Amino acid sequence: MQHVTLNNGVVMPSVGFGVFRIPEDQAQRAVEDALEAGYRLIDTAAVYRNEQAVGRAVAAGGIARDELFVTTKVWVQHGGEAATKAAFDRSLGRLGLDYVDLYLIHQPFGDYYGSWRAMEQLNRAGQVRAIGVSNFLPDRLVDLILHNEIVPAVNQIETHVFFQRAGDAAVMREYGVQHESWGPLAQGGRGFFDDPLLAGIARAHGRSVAQIALRWLLQRGVVVIPKSVRPDRMAENIDVFDFELTDDEMARIATLDTGGSDARDHRDPAFARWIGTTRFDI
Ligand code: NAD
Repeated sequence: MQHVTLNNGVVMPSVGFGVFRIPEDQAQRAVEDALEAGYRLIDTAAVYRNEQAVGRAVAAGGIARDELFVTTKVWVQHGGEAATKAAFDRSLGRLGLDYVDLYLIHQPFGDYYGSWRAMEQLNRAGQVRAIGVSNFLPDRLVDLILHNEIVPAVNQIETHVFFQRAGDAAVMREYGVQHESWGPLAQGGRGFFDDPLLAGIARAHGRSVAQIALRWLLQRGVVVIPKSVRPDRMAENIDVFDFELTDDEMARIATLDTGGSDARDHRDPAFARWIGTTRFDI
């Protein structure tokens, strides 16, 4: 496993396991399998409603706590200082942990400045080793940095071969924010697994399309958290450290960029309305 060192010195694995949309009743098995496959970074969120299952898997896995890197996230409805602290306590309880490694603001909506102040306090108190954000476009990221004390350690944003985010990456580099990709396999959309360019490079290396796309992100310095409930695919997605894409292959993959998302548009008022008014039992 390779690692990156965050802007506060905390060391984070470069490949982790995401649990979005894995139902609570399957998530324990999936995380146990992922730990068995060698994953040490687990990415969950309060709104995924599977933190308890992640916690049970971590407890059952018997891996030393300091070898694990657990990420969770605060949802929009718990924006603001007091609500974020209470939401954090609930997440910690569900996970059965006494600290988390990385706590993220899930979305740049609602009172996320209040949330950030709470997270700065949690960080200073040692309850969270690193704090960061997710889905922040560069303008929101820079504004948050300018008006607060702690610079986010991570920004987790949709990033894959079809939506490469080079401009976002440049801003993150400038401010020392680690780029983390969600949806590194394009969530299987847009013909990802059948893409002829990726398939050709995969054949040349005797690898899978998934491995090529993950390797491409890693060579750009991006942390990846692919998801699968199948142990064979978990093993495949973490087996990406013993080959290298050439400069020419990196450049050819760069031509796949469409500059946009099929998943969601954070500038769409309808999305802001949905995210600001939908309530979850979390
Ligand atoms: P992903 O890009 O990891 O794709 C997952 C899909 O690819 C699944 O359908 C899976 O069955 C398939 N797959 C995985 N490995 C495969 C392989 N080797 N061969 C063939 N098919 C394979 O999508 P994702 O789960 O949405 O993203 C990964 C993680 O990112 C999530 O689980 C979650 O932790 C995080 N995430 C965060 C946000 C956010 O707003 N912060 C949003 C979405 C996802």
